[in-house]
Amino acid sequence: MATYDYDLFTIGGGSGGVRASRMAAQFGAKVGIAEEYRYGGTCVIRGCVPKKLFVYASKFSEEFEDAAGFGWTSGEASFSWPTLIANKDREIDRLNNVYINILKNNNVEIYQDRAVLKDAHTVHLVNENRDITADKILIAVGAWPNKDDTLPGVEHTITSNEAFHLERLPNRILIAGGGYIAVEFACIFNGLGVDTTLLYRREEILRGFDDDLRRTLHIEMEKKGVKVVTQNVMTNIEQKPGPSGEPFYDVSLTDGRVIEVDLVMFAIGRDPKTPGMGLVSSGVELDEKGAIKVDKFSQTSVPNIYAVGDVTDRAALTPVAIREGAAFAETVFNNNPTAVDHTCIPTAVFSQPEIGTAGLTEAEAVEKFPNVHIYKSTFRPMKHTLSGRDEKTLMKLVVDADTDKVLGVHLLGPDSGELIQAVGIALKMGATKAQFDEVIAVHPTAAEELVTMREFSVAERPGGSERTAHAAS
Ligand code: NDP
Repeated sequence: MATYDYDLFTIGGGSGGVRASRMAAQFGAKVGIAEEYRYGGTCVIRGCVPKKLFVYASKFSEEFEDAAGFGWTSGEASFSWPTLIANKDREIDRLNNVYINILKNNNVEIYQDRAVLKDAHTVHLVNENRDITADKILIAVGAWPNKDDTLPGVEHTITSNEAFHLERLPNRILIAGGGYIAVEFACIFNGLGVDTTLLYRREEILRGFDDDLRRTLHIEMEKKGVKVVTQNVMTNIEQKPGPSGEPFYDVSLTDGRVIEVDLVMFAIGRDPKTPGMGLVSSGVELDEKGAIKVDKFSQTSVPNIYAVGDVTDRAALTPVAIREGAAFAETVFNNNPTAVDHTCIPTAVFSQPEIGTAGLTEAEAVEKFPNVHIYKSTFRPMKHTLSGRDEKTLMKLVVDADTDKVLGVHLLGPDSGELIQAVGIALKMGATKAQFDEVIAVHPTAAEELVTMREFSVAERPGGSERTAHAAS
Protein backbone atom coordinates (compact mmCIF):
# COMPACT_ATOMS: atom_id res chain seq x y z
CA MET A 1 0.00 0.00 0.00
CA ALA A 2 1.29 3.46 -0.91
CA THR A 3 2.43 5.68 1.92
CA TYR A 4 1.77 9.38 1.87
CA ASP A 5 2.98 12.37 3.84
CA TYR A 6 -0.56 12.99 5.09
CA ASP A 7 -3.88 11.18 5.37
CA LEU A 8 -5.53 14.45 4.36
CA PHE A 9 -4.14 17.57 2.76
CA THR A 10 -6.50 20.54 2.53
CA ILE A 11 -5.99 23.40 0.09
CA GLY A 12 -7.66 26.53 1.44
CA GLY A 13 -7.87 27.75 5.04
CA GLY A 14 -11.36 29.25 5.02
CA SER A 15 -14.46 28.17 6.88
CA GLY A 16 -14.93 24.83 5.08
CA GLY A 17 -11.27 23.82 4.90
CA VAL A 18 -10.51 24.62 8.53
CA ARG A 19 -13.57 22.81 9.86
CA ALA A 20 -12.87 19.71 7.76
CA SER A 21 -9.17 19.64 8.70
CA ARG A 22 -9.76 20.08 12.40
CA MET A 23 -12.42 17.39 12.53
CA ALA A 24 -10.41 14.94 10.42
CA ALA A 25 -7.48 15.43 12.82
CA GLN A 26 -9.80 14.85 15.78
CA PHE A 27 -10.84 11.58 14.15
CA GLY A 28 -7.18 10.54 14.13
CA ALA A 29 -6.02 11.54 10.65
CA LYS A 30 -2.64 13.12 9.98
CA VAL A 31 -3.61 16.42 8.37
CA GLY A 32 -1.81 19.24 6.56
CA ILE A 33 -3.37 22.44 5.26
CA ALA A 34 -2.13 25.22 2.98
CA GLU A 35 -3.48 28.78 2.72
CA GLU A 36 -1.93 31.37 0.44
CA TYR A 37 -3.32 34.46 2.18
CA ARG A 38 -4.76 34.48 5.70
CA TYR A 39 -6.40 31.70 7.70
CA GLY A 40 -10.10 32.38 8.15
CA GLY A 41 -10.84 32.79 4.45
CA THR A 42 -13.32 35.08 2.77
CA CYS A 43 -15.85 35.13 5.60
CA VAL A 44 -13.44 36.16 8.32
CA ILE A 45 -10.86 38.16 6.40
CA ARG A 46 -12.82 40.01 3.70
CA GLY A 47 -16.43 38.97 3.91
CA CYS A 48 -19.15 38.35 6.47
CA VAL A 49 -17.26 39.41 9.59
CA PRO A 50 -15.71 42.75 8.54
CA LYS A 51 -18.90 43.45 6.56
CA LYS A 52 -21.05 43.05 9.68
CA LEU A 53 -18.70 45.35 11.59
CA PHE A 54 -19.16 47.92 8.81
CA VAL A 55 -22.94 47.44 9.03
CA TYR A 56 -22.84 48.25 12.74
CA ALA A 57 -20.75 51.34 12.01
CA SER A 58 -23.11 52.54 9.31
CA LYS A 59 -26.23 52.25 11.46
CA PHE A 60 -25.10 54.78 14.03
CA SER A 61 -25.99 57.73 11.80
CA GLU A 62 -29.67 56.79 12.06
CA GLU A 63 -29.38 55.88 15.74
CA PHE A 64 -28.17 59.40 16.52
CA GLU A 65 -31.11 60.87 14.60
CA ASP A 66 -33.64 58.49 16.16
CA ALA A 67 -32.46 59.27 19.68
CA ALA A 68 -33.94 62.77 19.46
CA GLY A 69 -37.50 61.38 19.52
CA PHE A 70 -36.68 59.71 22.85
CA GLY A 71 -35.52 62.94 24.40
CA TRP A 72 -31.81 62.75 23.73
CA THR A 73 -29.76 65.68 22.55
CA SER A 74 -26.15 65.21 21.63
CA GLY A 75 -23.45 67.21 19.94
CA GLU A 76 -22.78 66.98 16.26
CA ALA A 77 -21.65 63.44 15.46
CA SER A 78 -18.59 62.88 13.33
CA PHE A 79 -17.18 59.70 11.85
CA SER A 80 -13.58 58.54 11.47
CA TRP A 81 -13.05 55.97 8.73
CA PRO A 82 -9.40 55.33 9.78
CA THR A 83 -10.57 54.47 13.31
CA LEU A 84 -13.13 52.00 11.98
CA ILE A 85 -10.57 50.39 9.67
CA ALA A 86 -7.94 50.12 12.41
CA ASN A 87 -10.38 48.58 14.89
CA LYS A 88 -11.77 46.23 12.25
CA ASP A 89 -8.25 45.15 11.28
CA ARG A 90 -7.40 44.43 14.91
CA GLU A 91 -10.44 42.18 15.23
CA ILE A 92 -9.66 40.40 11.97
CA ASP A 93 -6.07 39.81 13.17
CA ARG A 94 -7.45 38.31 16.35
CA LEU A 95 -9.77 35.98 14.44
CA ASN A 96 -7.00 35.03 12.04
CA ASN A 97 -4.98 33.87 15.05
CA VAL A 98 -7.97 32.05 16.50
CA TYR A 99 -8.21 30.03 13.29
CA ILE A 100 -4.48 29.28 13.28
CA ASN A 101 -4.64 28.17 16.91
CA ILE A 102 -7.66 25.94 16.30
CA LEU A 103 -5.63 24.12 13.67
CA LYS A 104 -2.46 23.95 15.76
CA ASN A 105 -4.31 22.77 18.85
CA ASN A 106 -5.69 19.90 16.81
CA ASN A 107 -2.25 18.99 15.44
CA VAL A 108 -3.03 20.09 11.91
CA GLU A 109 0.23 21.07 10.20
CA ILE A 110 -0.03 24.52 8.69
CA TYR A 111 1.57 25.79 5.48
CA GLN A 112 1.51 29.45 4.56
CA ASP A 113 1.80 28.95 0.84
CA ARG A 114 -0.10 28.63 -2.39
CA ALA A 115 -0.80 24.99 -3.13
CA VAL A 116 -1.91 23.49 -6.43
CA LEU A 117 -2.71 19.94 -7.50
CA LYS A 118 0.00 18.03 -9.33
CA ASP A 119 -1.79 14.72 -9.55
CA ALA A 120 -4.43 12.80 -7.64
CA HIS A 121 -2.21 12.32 -4.61
CA THR A 122 0.31 15.15 -4.95
CA VAL A 123 0.06 18.80 -3.97
CA HIS A 124 2.71 21.28 -5.06
CA LEU A 125 3.63 24.11 -2.69
CA VAL A 126 4.38 26.96 -5.05
CA ASN A 127 6.63 29.21 -2.96
CA GLU A 128 8.47 26.41 -1.19
CA ASN A 129 8.69 24.68 -4.57
CA ARG A 130 8.17 21.20 -3.24
CA ASP A 131 5.66 18.41 -3.39
CA ILE A 132 3.58 16.89 -0.63
CA THR A 133 1.64 13.67 -0.96
CA ALA A 134 -1.64 12.77 0.66
CA ASP A 135 -4.10 9.89 0.61
CA LYS A 136 -7.07 12.25 0.46
CA ILE A 137 -7.05 15.83 -0.81
CA LEU A 138 -9.70 18.43 -0.02
CA ILE A 139 -10.11 21.50 -2.22
CA ALA A 140 -11.67 24.40 -0.30
CA VAL A 141 -10.30 27.43 -2.12
CA GLY A 142 -13.53 29.43 -2.29
CA ALA A 143 -14.51 32.01 -4.87
CA TRP A 144 -13.31 35.39 -6.07
CA PRO A 145 -15.24 38.56 -7.01
CA ASN A 146 -15.94 39.20 -10.68
CA LYS A 147 -15.55 42.36 -12.69
CA ASP A 148 -16.70 43.03 -16.22
CA ASP A 149 -13.27 42.99 -17.82
CA THR A 150 -14.66 44.21 -21.15
CA LEU A 151 -15.76 47.53 -19.65
CA PRO A 152 -13.58 50.47 -20.76
CA GLY A 153 -12.11 51.92 -17.57
CA VAL A 154 -12.55 48.72 -15.53
CA GLU A 155 -9.02 49.22 -14.18
CA HIS A 156 -10.34 52.09 -12.04
CA THR A 157 -12.86 49.89 -10.22
CA ILE A 158 -12.70 47.95 -6.97
CA THR A 159 -14.54 44.95 -5.54
CA SER A 160 -15.55 44.09 -1.97
CA ASN A 161 -11.97 42.86 -1.43
CA GLU A 162 -10.61 46.40 -1.68
CA ALA A 163 -13.63 48.03 -0.01
CA PHE A 164 -12.35 46.71 3.31
CA HIS A 165 -9.05 48.56 2.95
CA LEU A 166 -9.89 51.92 1.40
CA GLU A 167 -7.56 54.64 2.63
CA ARG A 168 -10.33 57.22 2.46
CA LEU A 169 -14.09 57.07 2.45
CA PRO A 170 -15.25 58.37 -0.95
CA ASN A 171 -17.79 61.18 -1.14
CA ARG A 172 -19.67 59.47 -3.95
CA ILE A 173 -19.76 55.79 -4.90
CA LEU A 174 -21.46 53.73 -7.59
CA ILE A 175 -21.93 50.04 -6.85
CA ALA A 176 -22.77 47.73 -9.75
CA GLY A 177 -24.83 44.61 -9.00
CA GLY A 178 -28.09 43.76 -7.31
CA GLY A 179 -27.20 40.78 -5.13
CA TYR A 180 -26.21 40.35 -1.49
CA ILE A 181 -22.92 42.23 -1.67
CA ALA A 182 -24.11 45.17 -3.77
CA VAL A 183 -27.13 45.76 -1.56
CA GLU A 184 -25.24 45.37 1.71
CA PHE A 185 -22.42 47.70 0.68
CA ALA A 186 -24.82 50.27 -0.76
CA CYS A 187 -26.50 50.45 2.65
CA ILE A 188 -23.15 50.55 4.45
CA PHE A 189 -21.75 53.42 2.39
CA ASN A 190 -25.04 55.30 2.49
CA GLY A 191 -25.18 54.98 6.28
CA LEU A 192 -21.63 56.30 6.53
CA GLY A 193 -22.69 59.42 4.67
CA VAL A 194 -21.47 58.53 1.18
CA ASP A 195 -23.62 59.63 -1.76
CA THR A 196 -24.48 56.13 -3.01
CA THR A 197 -25.82 54.86 -6.32
CA LEU A 198 -26.76 51.21 -6.75
CA LEU A 199 -26.79 50.12 -10.37
CA TYR A 200 -28.66 46.95 -11.31
CA ARG A 201 -29.10 45.48 -14.78
CA ARG A 202 -32.67 44.17 -14.46
CA GLU A 203 -35.97 45.47 -13.14
CA GLU A 204 -35.71 44.68 -9.44
CA ILE A 205 -32.79 44.04 -7.07
CA LEU A 206 -32.14 40.74 -5.25
CA ARG A 207 -33.33 38.35 -7.92
CA GLY A 208 -34.26 35.00 -6.38
CA PHE A 209 -35.65 36.54 -3.18
CA ASP A 210 -39.36 36.93 -2.55
CA ASP A 211 -40.80 39.70 -4.73
CA ASP A 212 -42.40 41.54 -1.80
CA LEU A 213 -39.05 41.67 -0.03
CA ARG A 214 -37.33 42.93 -3.17
CA ARG A 215 -39.85 45.68 -3.82
CA THR A 216 -40.06 46.78 -0.20
CA LEU A 217 -36.30 46.84 0.34
CA HIS A 218 -35.89 48.88 -2.84
CA ILE A 219 -38.38 51.45 -1.52
CA GLU A 220 -36.85 51.52 1.95
CA MET A 221 -33.32 51.93 0.60
CA GLU A 222 -34.43 54.85 -1.52
CA LYS A 223 -36.11 56.43 1.50
CA LYS A 224 -32.77 56.28 3.27
CA GLY A 225 -31.07 58.03 0.38
CA VAL A 226 -29.61 55.26 -1.80
CA LYS A 227 -30.14 56.06 -5.48
CA VAL A 228 -31.26 52.79 -7.06
CA VAL A 229 -30.82 52.79 -10.84
CA THR A 230 -32.25 49.71 -12.56
CA GLN A 231 -32.21 48.29 -16.08
CA ASN A 232 -28.80 49.80 -16.74
CA VAL A 233 -25.17 48.76 -16.82
CA MET A 234 -21.99 50.76 -17.19
CA THR A 235 -20.72 51.31 -20.72
CA ASN A 236 -17.62 53.40 -19.93
CA ILE A 237 -15.65 54.78 -17.02
CA GLU A 238 -13.59 57.87 -17.68
CA GLN A 239 -11.10 59.11 -15.12
CA LYS A 240 -11.03 62.89 -14.56
CA PRO A 241 -8.61 64.94 -12.47
CA GLY A 242 -10.29 66.38 -9.35
CA PRO A 243 -9.55 69.84 -7.93
CA SER A 244 -7.47 68.47 -5.03
CA GLY A 245 -5.54 66.02 -7.20
CA GLU A 246 -7.77 63.06 -6.35
CA PRO A 247 -9.35 61.65 -9.51
CA PHE A 248 -13.06 61.24 -9.99
CA TYR A 249 -14.93 59.23 -12.62
CA ASP A 250 -17.58 59.88 -15.21
CA VAL A 251 -19.54 56.66 -15.47
CA SER A 252 -21.65 56.26 -18.62
CA LEU A 253 -24.71 54.03 -18.49
CA THR A 254 -26.63 52.20 -21.20
CA ASP A 255 -29.46 54.75 -21.14
CA GLY A 256 -26.98 57.49 -22.01
CA ARG A 257 -26.74 59.21 -18.67
CA VAL A 258 -23.39 59.95 -17.07
CA ILE A 259 -22.94 59.71 -13.30
CA GLU A 260 -20.02 61.44 -11.62
CA VAL A 261 -18.54 59.50 -8.68
CA ASP A 262 -15.31 59.13 -6.72
CA LEU A 263 -15.31 55.35 -6.61
CA VAL A 264 -16.83 52.50 -8.63
CA MET A 265 -17.32 49.09 -7.04
CA PHE A 266 -18.27 45.86 -8.76
CA ALA A 267 -20.42 43.38 -6.83
CA ILE A 268 -21.64 41.24 -9.71
CA GLY A 269 -21.09 37.79 -8.28
CA ARG A 270 -18.16 35.57 -7.47
CA ASP A 271 -16.51 32.82 -9.49
CA PRO A 272 -15.07 29.59 -8.09
CA LYS A 273 -11.33 30.05 -7.65
CA THR A 274 -10.38 27.05 -9.76
CA PRO A 275 -8.21 28.50 -12.57
CA GLY A 276 -4.54 27.58 -12.25
CA MET A 277 -5.24 24.95 -9.59
CA GLY A 278 -4.17 21.96 -11.71
CA LEU A 279 -7.62 20.45 -11.32
CA VAL A 280 -8.45 19.53 -14.90
CA SER A 281 -5.00 18.02 -15.57
CA SER A 282 -5.51 15.91 -12.44
CA GLY A 283 -8.85 14.65 -13.74
CA VAL A 284 -11.14 16.77 -11.53
CA GLU A 285 -14.26 17.71 -13.50
CA LEU A 286 -15.56 21.27 -13.44
CA ASP A 287 -18.98 22.58 -14.46
CA GLU A 288 -19.58 25.33 -17.03
CA LYS A 289 -19.02 28.04 -14.36
CA GLY A 290 -15.68 26.48 -13.39
CA ALA A 291 -17.05 25.07 -10.12
CA ILE A 292 -15.87 21.64 -8.98
CA LYS A 293 -18.50 18.98 -9.59
CA VAL A 294 -19.15 16.91 -6.47
CA ASP A 295 -21.59 14.24 -5.32
CA LYS A 296 -23.67 14.47 -2.16
CA PHE A 297 -20.62 13.45 -0.10
CA SER A 298 -18.49 16.23 -1.68
CA GLN A 299 -16.50 13.66 -3.66
CA THR A 300 -15.16 14.84 -7.03
CA SER A 301 -14.68 12.83 -10.22
CA VAL A 302 -11.31 11.73 -8.77
CA PRO A 303 -12.30 9.38 -5.94
CA ASN A 304 -9.70 10.49 -3.37
CA ILE A 305 -10.23 14.22 -4.04
CA TYR A 306 -13.07 16.08 -2.34
CA ALA A 307 -14.23 19.68 -2.45
CA VAL A 308 -16.36 21.84 -0.14
CA GLY A 309 -17.57 25.42 0.07
CA ASP A 310 -17.94 28.14 -2.55
CA VAL A 311 -15.61 26.35 -4.97
CA THR A 312 -18.40 23.81 -5.51
CA ASP A 313 -21.06 26.51 -6.06
CA ARG A 314 -23.79 24.68 -4.17
CA ALA A 315 -24.86 27.48 -1.81
CA ALA A 316 -22.18 30.14 -1.38
CA LEU A 317 -22.70 30.70 2.34
CA THR A 318 -20.24 30.27 5.21
CA PRO A 319 -22.41 28.00 7.37
CA VAL A 320 -22.98 25.76 4.36
CA ALA A 321 -19.22 25.44 3.77
CA ILE A 322 -18.73 24.62 7.46
CA ARG A 323 -21.45 21.98 7.33
CA GLU A 324 -20.01 20.49 4.13
CA GLY A 325 -16.52 20.41 5.70
CA ALA A 326 -17.87 18.65 8.79
CA ALA A 327 -19.88 16.17 6.69
CA PHE A 328 -16.77 15.38 4.62
CA ALA A 329 -14.74 14.63 7.77
CA GLU A 330 -17.54 12.46 9.18
CA THR A 331 -17.87 10.56 5.93
CA VAL A 332 -14.23 9.99 5.13
CA PHE A 333 -12.53 9.86 8.54
CA ASN A 334 -15.26 8.72 10.92
CA ASN A 335 -16.89 6.02 8.83
CA ASN A 336 -20.19 7.89 9.07
CA PRO A 337 -21.47 8.78 5.59
CA THR A 338 -23.06 12.20 5.97
CA ALA A 339 -24.66 14.28 3.22
CA VAL A 340 -25.59 17.92 3.71
CA ASP A 341 -29.21 18.83 3.12
CA HIS A 342 -29.10 22.00 1.03
CA THR A 343 -32.84 22.65 1.17
CA CYS A 344 -34.54 25.38 3.19
CA ILE A 345 -31.38 27.23 4.18
CA PRO A 346 -32.19 30.29 6.26
CA THR A 347 -30.22 33.32 5.19
CA ALA A 348 -29.90 37.02 5.95
CA VAL A 349 -29.04 39.98 3.82
CA PHE A 350 -27.54 42.66 6.05
CA SER A 351 -29.24 45.41 4.16
CA GLN A 352 -30.91 48.28 5.98
CA PRO A 353 -33.60 47.26 6.81
CA GLU A 354 -32.31 43.72 7.18
CA ILE A 355 -33.67 40.67 5.36
CA GLY A 356 -34.18 37.23 6.87
CA THR A 357 -35.57 34.53 4.64
CA ALA A 358 -36.07 30.77 4.57
CA GLY A 359 -37.93 28.36 2.35
CA LEU A 360 -39.90 29.02 -0.81
CA THR A 361 -40.72 32.42 -2.21
CA GLU A 362 -44.30 33.06 -3.28
CA ALA A 363 -43.26 32.62 -6.93
CA GLU A 364 -41.50 29.31 -6.22
CA ALA A 365 -44.40 28.03 -4.13
CA VAL A 366 -47.04 28.56 -6.84
CA GLU A 367 -44.90 26.63 -9.28
CA LYS A 368 -44.82 23.63 -6.96
CA PHE A 369 -48.17 23.73 -5.17
CA PRO A 370 -51.67 24.21 -6.58
CA ASN A 371 -53.09 26.13 -3.61
CA VAL A 372 -50.87 28.63 -1.86
CA HIS A 373 -51.97 31.15 0.73
CA ILE A 374 -50.03 34.27 1.65
CA TYR A 375 -50.09 35.87 5.08
CA LYS A 376 -48.55 39.28 5.06
CA SER A 377 -48.12 42.08 7.53
CA THR A 378 -46.57 45.47 6.89
CA PHE A 379 -46.18 47.86 9.78
CA ARG A 380 -44.06 50.58 11.29
CA PRO A 381 -41.64 49.19 13.90
CA MET A 382 -42.61 50.35 17.39
CA LYS A 383 -39.35 52.23 17.87
CA HIS A 384 -40.22 54.53 15.00
CA THR A 385 -43.50 55.62 16.57
CA LEU A 386 -41.33 57.94 18.66
CA SER A 387 -38.29 58.36 16.42
CA GLY A 388 -40.61 59.46 13.64
CA ARG A 389 -38.60 57.53 11.06
CA ASP A 390 -40.61 56.49 8.03
CA GLU A 391 -39.58 52.84 7.81
CA LYS A 392 -41.68 49.75 7.23
CA THR A 393 -41.26 46.20 8.45
CA LEU A 394 -42.59 43.37 6.30
CA MET A 395 -43.42 39.84 7.45
CA LYS A 396 -44.73 37.23 5.09
CA LEU A 397 -45.63 33.56 5.39
CA VAL A 398 -46.11 31.35 2.34
CA VAL A 399 -48.40 28.43 3.19
CA ASP A 400 -49.48 25.31 1.31
CA ALA A 401 -53.26 25.59 1.65
CA ASP A 402 -53.78 21.84 1.19
CA THR A 403 -51.50 20.64 4.00
CA ASP A 404 -51.27 23.90 5.99
CA LYS A 405 -47.47 23.54 5.93
CA VAL A 406 -45.49 26.77 6.08
CA LEU A 407 -43.36 26.74 2.94
CA GLY A 408 -41.53 30.03 3.32
CA VAL A 409 -40.93 32.88 5.74
CA HIS A 410 -39.73 36.26 4.48
CA LEU A 411 -38.85 39.09 6.80
CA LEU A 412 -37.67 42.64 6.26
CA GLY A 413 -36.99 44.73 9.32
CA PRO A 414 -34.69 45.12 12.33
CA ASP A 415 -32.98 41.92 13.45
CA SER A 416 -34.54 39.79 10.71
CA GLY A 417 -31.31 37.81 10.50
CA GLU A 418 -31.61 36.86 14.16
CA LEU A 419 -35.30 36.04 13.78
CA ILE A 420 -34.98 33.81 10.75
CA GLN A 421 -32.46 31.58 12.49
CA ALA A 422 -35.12 30.62 15.05
CA VAL A 423 -38.03 30.51 12.61
CA GLY A 424 -35.87 28.38 10.31
CA ILE A 425 -36.01 25.59 12.90
CA ALA A 426 -39.80 25.47 12.72
CA LEU A 427 -39.66 25.50 8.94
CA LYS A 428 -37.12 22.69 8.80
CA MET A 429 -39.35 20.66 11.12
CA GLY A 430 -42.23 21.09 8.68
CA ALA A 431 -44.39 23.25 10.96
CA THR A 432 -47.92 24.08 9.87
CA LYS A 433 -49.58 27.47 10.02
CA ALA A 434 -51.85 26.10 12.77
CA GLN A 435 -48.75 25.22 14.80
CA PHE A 436 -47.38 28.72 14.32
CA ASP A 437 -50.72 30.03 15.57
CA GLU A 438 -50.69 27.77 18.65
CA VAL A 439 -47.63 29.60 19.91
CA ILE A 440 -48.44 32.47 22.23
CA ALA A 441 -47.13 35.81 21.08
CA VAL A 442 -44.23 37.59 22.75
CA HIS A 443 -45.44 41.11 23.34
CA PRO A 444 -44.55 43.79 22.38
CA THR A 445 -42.26 42.51 19.62
CA ALA A 446 -42.28 42.61 15.86
CA ALA A 447 -41.95 38.83 15.80
CA GLU A 448 -45.38 38.35 17.36
CA GLU A 449 -46.80 39.04 13.91
CA LEU A 450 -45.48 35.62 12.90
CA VAL A 451 -47.99 33.90 15.18
CA THR A 452 -50.89 36.33 14.90
CA MET A 453 -51.49 36.74 11.18
CA ARG A 454 -55.01 35.52 10.36
CA GLU A 455 -55.91 37.20 7.06
CA PHE A 456 -54.60 35.59 3.93
CA SER A 457 -54.68 36.15 0.22
CA VAL A 458 -54.41 33.59 -2.55
CA ALA A 459 -50.90 33.56 -3.98
CA GLU A 460 -50.29 35.39 -7.19
CA ARG A 461 -49.78 33.16 -10.20
CA PRO A 462 -47.86 34.09 -13.32
CA GLY A 463 -50.39 35.59 -15.69
CA GLY A 464 -51.85 37.61 -12.84
CA SER A 465 -54.93 35.82 -11.47
CA GLU A 466 -56.57 38.26 -9.13
CA ARG A 467 -55.59 38.19 -5.47
CA THR A 468 -58.60 37.60 -3.30
CA ALA A 469 -58.60 38.42 0.37
CA HIS A 470 -60.23 35.93 2.71
CA ALA A 471 -60.64 35.76 6.41
CA ALA A 472 -59.41 32.49 7.84
CA SER A 473 -62.10 30.65 9.71
P1 NDP B 1 -24.96 37.53 -6.20
O1 NDP B 1 -24.92 36.32 -7.02
O2 NDP B 1 -25.78 37.58 -4.96
O3 NDP B 1 -25.42 38.76 -7.10
C1 NDP B 1 -24.74 39.12 -8.26
C2 NDP B 1 -25.45 40.33 -8.83
O4 NDP B 1 -24.69 40.87 -9.91
C3 NDP B 1 -26.81 40.01 -9.37
O5 NDP B 1 -27.65 41.09 -9.08
C4 NDP B 1 -26.56 39.88 -10.87
O6 NDP B 1 -27.67 40.23 -11.64
C5 NDP B 1 -25.50 40.93 -11.06
N1 NDP B 1 -24.65 40.67 -12.22
C6 NDP B 1 -24.05 39.51 -12.55
N2 NDP B 1 -23.30 39.67 -13.67
C7 NDP B 1 -23.44 40.95 -14.04
C8 NDP B 1 -22.91 41.72 -15.09
N3 NDP B 1 -22.09 41.19 -15.99
N4 NDP B 1 -23.26 43.02 -15.17
C9 NDP B 1 -24.08 43.57 -14.25
N5 NDP B 1 -24.60 42.90 -13.23
C10 NDP B 1 -24.30 41.60 -13.11
O7 NDP B 1 -23.43 37.87 -5.93
P2 NDP B 1 -22.71 38.75 -4.84
O8 NDP B 1 -21.44 39.15 -5.48
O9 NDP B 1 -23.59 39.81 -4.31
O10 NDP B 1 -22.45 37.71 -3.68
C11 NDP B 1 -21.79 36.46 -3.95
C12 NDP B 1 -22.29 35.41 -3.01
O11 NDP B 1 -21.77 35.66 -1.71
C13 NDP B 1 -23.79 35.38 -2.84
O12 NDP B 1 -24.40 34.53 -3.75
C14 NDP B 1 -23.98 34.91 -1.44
O13 NDP B 1 -24.20 33.53 -1.47
C15 NDP B 1 -22.69 35.24 -0.74
N6 NDP B 1 -22.91 36.30 0.24
C16 NDP B 1 -23.73 36.09 1.29
C17 NDP B 1 -23.96 37.08 2.21
C18 NDP B 1 -24.87 36.85 3.35
O14 NDP B 1 -25.15 35.70 3.66
N7 NDP B 1 -25.40 37.89 3.98
C19 NDP B 1 -23.32 38.38 2.09
C20 NDP B 1 -22.50 38.52 0.93
C21 NDP B 1 -22.31 37.51 0.05
P3 NDP B 1 -28.81 39.18 -12.05
O15 NDP B 1 -29.77 39.15 -10.93
O16 NDP B 1 -29.37 39.79 -13.27
O17 NDP B 1 -28.15 37.88 -12.31
